[in-house]
Amino acid sequence: MKTCAYCGTTNPLTKEHIWPKGIINRVPSYIGRYSERANKVQAGELVIKDVCQFCNNGSLSKLDDYLCNLFDSFFKDFVREYETVNFAYDYDLLARVLLKLSFNTARASKQPIDLFSPMIPYILGTENSRPNNFSILVNLVKPTKVLKNGIIRNVYPSGVRSGRFELPTLDYRDVQYRVISINSYYFYLLLFNGVKQQQVINETSDITSSQLISSDATQLMLSLSNTDTFSVYEDHFKKNEKTYKDFLEKHNP
Ligand SMILES: [Zn+2]
Repeated sequence: MKTCAYCGTTNPLTKEHIWPKGIINRVPSYIGRYSERANKVQAGELVIKDVCQFCNNGSLSKLDDYLCNLFDSFFKDFVREYETVNFAYDYDLLARVLLKLSFNTARASKQPIDLFSPMIPYILGTENSRPNNFSILVNLVKPTKVLKNGIIRNVYPSGVRSGRFELPTLDYRDVQYRVISINSYYFYLLLFNGVKQQQVINETSDITSSQLISSDATQLMLSLSNTDTFSVYEDHFKKNEKTYKDFLEKHNP
């Protein structure tokens, strides 16, 4: 019998989307997603069917509520140049919801989950002590300016994304890199197989122009980084150009 990926019981399982409904409703530009597993851009969302209704409607839904609150306070607005944002957060709620999204994405994409499994009690909130083998960084991606019919337009980094990311210059075997992005906000989640490596955190921060989110603080001053909409997707688009073209041709006749 199939058991719940979180609590391990045989309670009735539900069918859920990776991204909370509240977020999907708030991000209307979300029309397609790239599936690493299928190597295809697909309409609709990744679905998981291995979470019981008690976990889903209980502690996990509280995390979704927190993400929606952050959306309404921060993610909904595209930050203007020279503007700074005082990003206020509850570290554990933020960490738990990013871990949950990544864990769900990993299962739906048949990616390794060994580093997530020991974190389940923390994600559920049944265990208060925070695992010390992860770090979160954040980056505010700026719009790309394009010239169209003599007018400069901003192309904003709209949409959501959850998946793995690769940094070509980093080669660390004992780290899993994940990205969770909502509009301008790009969160990088580093999961260490063992102890945290400061060097990996520093290099990730340099390469992605992101800032480490401190677990001891409740706010962080953010301004737009040098990364823009096109550059953050560049490698990914180049690698998967054909599959995106196919998708767009089919959905924008
Ligand atoms: Zn459960």
